[in-house]
Order: sequence, then C-alpha cells, then structure tokens
Amino acid sequence: LFRREWIFLRGVAAMKFLPPEGPHEVAFAGRSNVGKSSLINALVRQKGLARMSNTPGRTQELNFFIPSGYSGEAEDLPPFALVDMPGYGFAQAPKAQVEAWTKLVFDYLRGRVTLKRVYVLIDSRHGIKRIDEEVMDLLDKAAVSYQVVLTKADKIKAPALKKLVEDTAQKISRRPAAFPGVIATSSEKGWGLDELRMAITTAVEY
Ligand code: GDP
Repeated sequence: LFRREWIFLRGVAAMKFLPPEGPHEVAFAGRSNVGKSSLINALVRQKGLARMSNTPGRTQELNFFIPSGYSGEAEDLPPFALVDMPGYGFAQAPKAQVEAWTKLVFDYLRGRVTLKRVYVLIDSRHGIKRIDEEVMDLLDKAAVSYQVVLTKADKIKAPALKKLVEDTAQKISRRPAAFPGVIATSSEKGWGLDELRMAITTAVEY
C-alpha cells in the first residue's frame, strides 16, 4: 500500500467526528517540530500530504490518511489508515489548548481498538524528553503498543547516532508496551524509511 497514492480523509478535533473504524490504524506522535509531517510524507513519497505543523487549524486535530481507491466510509474501508496526531509540547501553547489536546489524545488512545501501533517520534538531536516520557507512560497505561523512531538522523554524526540508538533502546527496555527496537530515520536522506514501512506493514498484519 505504500506504493499507492494516499489521500487526506479527515481531520478531527473531537471523538464524535472520528471516521468509522477500519481494520487497522497506525498513529504518529511526537513533539511539535520533531519532523512528523516530513516523515509521513516521505513514507508515502508525497511531499504535500501531511502539512507542516505551522499550518493553522490542522495542528490540533487527529488527521486521518488512507490509500486512494477507498472512500473511508463504513462500507469501503482501507486495510489500514495512518493517523497524524497533533504535536505536543509547544512552549507557548495556551492552557485550554493543551487541555483540549490531552483530552482528545487520551480518549483516542484509550478508546480506539483498531489502533495497532503508535510510532513515537524523537528528534535525534534532543533524545527522549520529559514530555515524551509522559506520552509513553500514557501508552503503557493504555496498553497501546508503540515503537520509538528517531527523526532527523542526518543531523548528528554516525557514532553519536549509534550511541543514541543504543541508549534509547535501553531507556525503553523496561516499558511494558514498548515494542523493542529503535528505528533511526532521516526524511531528508531517505534513511530508515523502508525499515519503518516494513515495521508498519508487520504491525498491521496482526
Ligand atoms: P512536525 O512539526 O513534526 O510535523 O515537523 P516538520 O515535518 O514540519 O519538520 C520540522 C522541521 O524539521 C522542518 O524545517 C523540516 O524541514 C525539518 N526536518 C524534518 N525532517 C528532517 C530530516 O530528516 N532531516 C533534516 N535535516 N531536517 C528535517
């Protein structure tokens, strides 16, 4: 399916607007500016699919993407959908916005049975931050399987990257819902994309 064209199905700001549950969903989470839209676009080889985080309006929504050829309506669901979750950890986000984000994300993560895997994106230059830990705590609590993906791997030197992959794998090793293995990617250089496509394909097969 990664060879197909993908389309934007819907952006939702509240649970009641969620599209019908298809067989499987895979979601992407990460701090704002982590490189989430770039990664989704690189995965499907479409530059303009997921909008960069500064596009007003879309940033606080769960954005659903499906392969073209499906309507996404209950009678015509794709084998799996990709979900771009709103970026977290804006420095100047108003409190009400953070609360709305938290509620939507909590509800979605806890309530969506077709959610097979969450990819938690971590910027290679920054590593796991406190807020990422909180998101992983939530995923552990909700028993939602997740895997860590390092982004912008081209921004650090190879030995530093190797150490970061090892340290990150070590950090998550005791987390109950963490899927073992850390995938290092660069959307810019195309690194790790096939590995991630394969991981997603495997995740939705079960
Ligand atoms: P989002 O807020 O998580 O959706 O992040 P974006 O995808 O909008 O990316 C944030 C910034 O990081 C942009 O300026 C991108 O050009 C840059 N960026 C994203 N991915 C990479 C990457 O793999 N390598 C490099 N060097 N920069 C990247």
